[in-house]
Amino acid sequence: MDRFEPNLRIPGPTGLPPSVREVGARQMINHRGPEFAAMLGRILSGMKPFFGTSSDVAIVTTAGTGGLEAAIVNTLSPGDRVLAVSIGSFGDRFAKIARTYGADVTKIEVEWGQAADPAVLRGELQRENGYKAVLLTHNETSTGVMNPIPEPAAVVRELAPDALILVDSVSGLGAVPFEMDAWGVDVVVTGSQKAWMAAPGLAMIAASPRAWAAMEIATMPRLYLDLRAHRDSHAAGQTPWTPAIAVLYQVDEGIRLMQAEGAAGVFARHEACAAAARAGLTALGFELFADQRFASRTVTAALLPDGLDWKAFNAELKRRGLVLAGGQGKLTGKIFRLGHLGSVTLEEILGAMSVLEFTSIGMGRTVRPGSAVAAAQVAALELSGLTTPVAAVAGSGA
Ligand code: PLP
Repeated sequence: MDRFEPNLRIPGPTGLPPSVREVGARQMINHRGPEFAAMLGRILSGMKPFFGTSSDVAIVTTAGTGGLEAAIVNTLSPGDRVLAVSIGSFGDRFAKIARTYGADVTKIEVEWGQAADPAVLRGELQRENGYKAVLLTHNETSTGVMNPIPEPAAVVRELAPDALILVDSVSGLGAVPFEMDAWGVDVVVTGSQKAWMAAPGLAMIAASPRAWAAMEIATMPRLYLDLRAHRDSHAAGQTPWTPAIAVLYQVDEGIRLMQAEGAAGVFARHEACAAAARAGLTALGFELFADQRFASRTVTAALLPDGLDWKAFNAELKRRGLVLAGGQGKLTGKIFRLGHLGSVTLEEILGAMSVLEFTSIGMGRTVRPGSAVAAAQVAALELSGLTTPVAAVAGSGA
């Protein structure tokens, strides 16, 4: 922790490790030259295990939303029936993109804070059998819910075997295990500014052989976002258009750091930080927003209690160097969100809890100093198997 840097605990963009910042400042290279081709090759092969795929991945210079748009316009035609399962604001956005390009969208609207219910999906797919695609959100950043994708994916594969499953994992992929091929998922979208520890600017999109085949007959308009152009160009070590080279440097370094830590280590760190965040916020007296059976491992949302004004609370947190995110859409002023993805460390979560304690006490809330930090630390230590002595210490005082 650094007193000259805020503790940026929003769910992306995430803080950058020092080596990632440094490589972002490097001189440009020829994006049609061998050095670029080598870097692109490293990034593509380094990412595939995190997608859980042996299929082609495309890297597009665009925000995550552009990646979602690419998923739609490359695989669908105007008039295609699409089933959008929305569990929050980003699920709504995915559905809106499909509708914007002329798909005939039916939406399953799940109560915010809940995960997609496979039984409801089953009912809809039994009732209607013409869907060309099903849209799912892996990690709904607006509510702090992580959908267990294998469950809805299995229902689609069983009842609508020809439907494509398009998944928004902008804020999930890289932080938690994902097995695109094994789960029968067709398109997965992620973004450089989330788990990959890089600046915003790149969307990474993996497509199954079925999805690549669908692109040959899909008729929605596309040029810049044409994934076939990206795939073909990647095969020659290039991108079809001039890419965000500095962000590619960063993703290259981010993946190098993730490989050095090992995927299992990356996932365990996210799990520990998520558990710590949930326990700490609960100890502070906040009610967690998401159904905890489906709690996200990259972002935690908590309800703002009556009488706690978000603007005033947030201003105090910021003054002490902690940057959280407020609620989005209909949750504005009702919840706040704490991001724990990318380069996040347990120490950063403990630091956040300490600031939340100070600030809560300063604003007249009843909080015992140290209680949130202790609860967060116990939760993380329990995951690392150190349950007995730590639980005993916590039980004796906290
Ligand atoms: N989908 C999810 C789940 C997200 O969290 C985000 C961004 O926070 C997006 C899509 C959109 O990404 P971008 O803001 O880069 O367009």
